[in-house]
Amino acid sequence: MSAITMRELTKVYPGGVRALDALDLEIADGEFFALLGPSGCGKTTLLRTIAGLEVASGGSVRIGERDVTNLPPGKRDVAMVFQDYALFPHMTVRDNIAYPLRIKKVDRRSRGSKAADTADELGLSGLLERRPGQLSGGQQQRVALARAMACHPQVFLLDEPLSNLDARLRLEARTFLKRLQRELGVTTVFVTHDQAEALALADRIAVMEGGRIRQVGTPTEVFRRPANTFVAGFIGSTPMNLIDARVRGDELAVARARLPLPDDARDRVADGERLVYGIRPEYLDYSPTAVPGALTGEVVVVENLGSVSLVSLDVPTDDAEAGDAAGDPGRTSVQVVVPEGGEPEPGDTGWAVPRPG
Ligand code: ATP
Repeated sequence: MSAITMRELTKVYPGGVRALDALDLEIADGEFFALLGPSGCGKTTLLRTIAGLEVASGGSVRIGERDVTNLPPGKRDVAMVFQDYALFPHMTVRDNIAYPLRIKKVDRRSRGSKAADTADELGLSGLLERRPGQLSGGQQQRVALARAMACHPQVFLLDEPLSNLDARLRLEARTFLKRLQRELGVTTVFVTHDQAEALALADRIAVMEGGRIRQVGTPTEVFRRPANTFVAGFIGSTPMNLIDARVRGDELAVARARLPLPDDARDRVADGERLVYGIRPEYLDYSPTAVPGALTGEVVVVENLGSVSLVSLDVPTDDAEAGDAAGDPGRTSVQVVVPEGGEPEPGDTGWAVPRPG
C-alpha cells in the first residue's frame, strides 16, 4: 500500500510561478524518502503541500486511504519538522515536546509522561527543564523531532533536517536520524539539496527539476543508472563525464576512442545512432601509457581531494566517427579519479580507461 500518493499535483503561486507541475509520485509505507533537487525546483512546496500548509492548485494528495487534498494540516495526521526547528523559546523542552498533545487536548498527566517517554527515546531526559536557548544545535534538532514524534503521526515531513548543524554534528545526526527512522518505521519524507545526504539516508530518492520529477529510484539506481543527463549531472560528488558519442556496431565512438557498448545498452540503440556517453570519474582508470581504444588527451588540472586526486584531461573530439559532423576540431574535458601516488603532472599525456562492469 502507498502511504502517500500524489496525482497531477500542481501548485501555482500568486504571480504565476508554477512550483509543482502536474506531478505524480507514490511513497510506500514505512519508506525513508528524499526530495532532492537544486534551489527553486519545488521541494519545499511539495513537502508543504503534503503537510497542508500550501493549498494545491490542482491534482490530489492521498495519505493512506484518505484523500487529504482539501483537509487542513491538523486533520492530515502528519508532523513536520522545520529547517529552523521552530521551537518555542519561552517554553521548556518538556513543554515544547508536549505542545502538540496540548493542542490535541490530551490531559496534563498523560502529556507529561508521553513527553518524558519520547525525550527518553531521543536521549533528552536530562534536558527536560531547559529552554531551547540553552541547547546545542543537535539537541534542538532532537527536541524538534521529539515534538513531531510525540503524537505518533502516520507521516513525518522533514525540511532540510540537517542543514543547521555543522559538518561534524551533521554526520552524527545523519546516523541518528537513519537509526531512528528504522526503529520507528514511520513513513518519512525529507527535503534536501545535498545529494550526498540523500544517497546516505534515503530508501528512495525523487530528483526534481522545475516542479517536475526527473527520476525516482533507490540511491544505487539514481547513482548508477541516471535516467537523463540532468540526474547524471546532479548526482555524484564529482559530476559525471557526458560526451557526445555515436554507435558503431557493438562499439561506441567517443571522441577518438572506441569503447565497448555496455551490454544493457545493446538492445536499446541502433547502429549509427548519436547519443550521450556518461561515465563517472570514479569508473575510469588513469594510464600514463597508451591504451588502445581509450580516451586520451593532455592533463590540464590535477586537484588533490585528500586520498584521491581528480585529473582533468583535455580530449580532442575532432573525429567524424565521434559525431562531429561539421568536422570542427572540438574538445571535451574528461575527468578521472586517480588514487594517491599515481597522479600525473599538468602537461602530461594520459589515457582514461573505462573499468569493465
Ligand atoms: P530551496 O532549496 O531554495 O529551498 P525549493 O526546491 O525548496 O528551493 P521552493 O521553495 O518549493 O523550492 O520554490 C519553488 C518555486 O516557487 C521557486 O521559484 C520559488 O521562488 C517559488 N515560490 C516559493 N514560495 C513562493 C511564494 N510563497 N510565493 C511565490 N512564489 C514562491
